[in-house]
Order: sequence, then C-alpha cells, then structure tokens
Amino acid sequence: MSVEPYKVLALKYRPSQFSELVGQDTLVKTLKNSFLSKRVGHAFLLHGDRGVGKTSTARLIAKALNCLEKKDGDVEPCNTCSNCQSIQMGRHVDVIEMDGASKTGVNDIREIIETVVYRAASAKFKVYIIDEVHMLSNSAFNALLKTLEEPPEHVKFIFATTDIKKIPLTILSRVSRFDLRRLEIEVLMKHLLEILKREGLKAEKEALKTISREAAGSVRDALSILDQVLVNCETIIENKMVNELLGKVSRLEILYLLELIIQGKTKETLKRVRSSISGNTSPALLLQELLECLHFVSVSSLMDHELIGDDHSSEEKKLAKKLVSSTDPVILTSLWQILFKGIDELKIASQSITSLEMLLFRACHMSIMPSPDALIKSVLGSRADSTMHVYNLERKSPLKRQGKDEIIEPIEGMIKNTELDKSTETTDTSAVKEILDIFPGATVKK
Ligand SMILES: [Zn+2]
Repeated sequence: MSVEPYKVLALKYRPSQFSELVGQDTLVKTLKNSFLSKRVGHAFLLHGDRGVGKTSTARLIAKALNCLEKKDGDVEPCNTCSNCQSIQMGRHVDVIEMDGASKTGVNDIREIIETVVYRAASAKFKVYIIDEVHMLSNSAFNALLKTLEEPPEHVKFIFATTDIKKIPLTILSRVSRFDLRRLEIEVLMKHLLEILKREGLKAEKEALKTISREAAGSVRDALSILDQVLVNCETIIENKMVNELLGKVSRLEILYLLELIIQGKTKETLKRVRSSISGNTSPALLLQELLECLHFVSVSSLMDHELIGDDHSSEEKKLAKKLVSSTDPVILTSLWQILFKGIDELKIASQSITSLEMLLFRACHMSIMPSPDALIKSVLGSRADSTMHVYNLERKSPLKRQGKDEIIEPIEGMIKNTELDKSTETTDTSAVKEILDIFPGATVKK
C-alpha cells in the first residue's frame, strides 16, 4: 500500500478559485466583474507584502484566461483541464513566469518582446508573469512600454510587486492595479480554523491568535507556522506549544513581568527574565514584547474599547486595568523611553542578556523613584505657599489645564511672572526643568 506523501499546508490549501482568495474581497469582485463583462485588461499589477497571495492570484488569472472547460459567463476556472493543471503547477508553456529580481536588464525584457508576436502554443492567451517587477532597470521598463501600450491580442501581462513606489508612472498608467491586503487577525484565525477542521484537527483559540499575530496577516506564513506546530502535535494545538516553538513568552507572562518592574521588584524581575531566556526566547524578542505590552497598558488607560481592540484576552485586559489604576501614566511613558533606548543597547552589547538585565535594573529603579509630582513639590515646597504660588501664576496663563491636575509647563512663562527673588528662582527653574526632562508631561496634583 502506498502512503501519500505529506504536502505542506501552504501548498495544499493554495487558492485554486477566486472564491478561495480569503480577505481580498475588492480584488475578487473587480476581477469577477471584468471576466463576466468580458472586459479583461491586457496588463495587471498585483501589489502587496510578501506572502499575501500575489503569485496565487496571478496563476488564478492565467487559469481563468486559459481554462478549456470554462464557458461564457463562468468566472472560476475548472481546475481539472490540462491547461488549469499545468498552470497551477507553474509548468504551462504559454504562461511564462519570470523573476524581476534576477532578470532585471533590458536584454531580458527584449527577449520577451521578441516572443510576444508568436501565438500561444496551446492556450488562448500567452501570459507573462513578472514577479518583483520593481527590480527592473529603467531601460528595461522603457523597453516594455511600447509593448505594454499596444500588446498583441493574445498577450496578457501580470506584474507583481512589493514596492509600488519604484514603478514608473508610465507603467502604472498602463496597467490595472490591484492591492492585496494583509489579513485581519480575526479573518486569518477563521481561515486557519477552517483548514484545521478539514484536516480533522483542533486548536485552542489563543494558539490560533498567536499564530495569526506572528504571521502578521500573511496566510502563507501562518500555514507554515501551523505546519511546524503539527510536527509535535498529537490531538489539540495548544497556545503553550506555539509560544515554545516561536520562542515567545505568553503575553500574560510578559504583563506579569511588567507588573514586577513597575513595582520595582528587581530580584523577582531578573529571576523571571532568566527563566524565560533559558527557554527559547531571546533577550531582544523579550524586550520587544515588553514594549508591546507597555503600549497595550498605556492605551488601556484611555478606557476606550475601540482603541484597545479585541486582540487581548479578558485576563490580559484585567491585568492591564490593574496596572493602569496603580501606576502614574508618566511612569509608563518614562519606562517606554528607557526600554526603547535598550533596543539599540542590546544590538551593540556582546552579551545581550547582560545588557537586558542592566536595562531592567534601571527600569525597576525608575519605577520606585518618587513620583514627579512629589519631586517638584519637594523642590518648590521649601518655602511656604510656593507651590500654590505656581498654581496661581499658571491660572493666569491661557495654556494647558487638564482636569484636576495643573500642568507646570511652560516653565519659562511661569517663572517670568514670579515674584520670588532672583537666586531662588534660578535654582527652582533648573531643578523643575530637570525633573520635567526626565518625566515629560509630569503634572502636580493639588
Ligand atoms: Zn480548466
């Protein structure tokens, strides 16, 4: 008995019909309409990031043009006739696929131009698919122009590119352009779930979310991750398994780590980081994830459901809410500054884990420093009523007032009006300025 060889998911589930192009509704609708109304252009440009399905779409168009079984009024190719099958495999003699990245010169294009006059060998249309077309040289583009303007009736061009800005306007004005989008996380998750169902497999919702996020909306990348996970999976795909494979620490764990940093618990922070690094994750990846969680916590403070989005579990949202209620927003932005600077520090450090630990030392200390509010008060509060004096002066200014908190900026305006004696004024100004340098946007509570 022969065993069917394993086919990777990205190939097995490559869209073979327009209806299977997930998340590209506008493109599908326009293409379908042009086939139905028999107004199919002679040149297409497919634009989108890598892995969004440009090659699959190009082959689909080539099949729809050349399918032997398709009747008038049909849009979808049959996928069973000899033309459909050989195009799907990239082997049809009349569907010429070339890579603009390796054939960039004018001579490569001249070769094409010389062959366009000959009719197709066995298909209705000769289709030239040029991938990464933006890599063509200027003279190559120029050589293409004339053919593109008046191509023989039996010729169609399909260009694909990841970088639309590098394509000359003269070319852009002669093609029908389609933008292929990265899939929304929710759409990609639904697509993965559908595929798993067909494969007779199950997965935790969180696991699908992690895969979709990591793939950043690319179906191909998501399926390739899924393939790797399936190697070690028996029955159900767990989020823990996916995180391990990707070298990621779960977002909830990162949020707990952030909580330790905010609480200034240096010892526990370092212990947790070391145990994460001894797993699969790298210091740089961990830092990146810390920054992402910090952004999420900061946005959570705005209490706006639309801004927060549905990308986080209820447990994550609950913890973020707890962190927000117990942390001065200025601490969050200052932590961001410290951690963000760390990205470069980690790149040049010979031991990135050492660098990360020192960075977290700094972050932990930052969190337990007196609040900017208290610092400013301590500078100004050495003399009676001086804090109130600041408020009084500030109220005269039309600038800045937020809720119950009065903002100290602009310092210059405030100090200019002050009636304090000169020497104290200078000390106060520079001290408060320094505090505001460290905590931009700091406020003083009444
Ligand atoms: Zn066919």
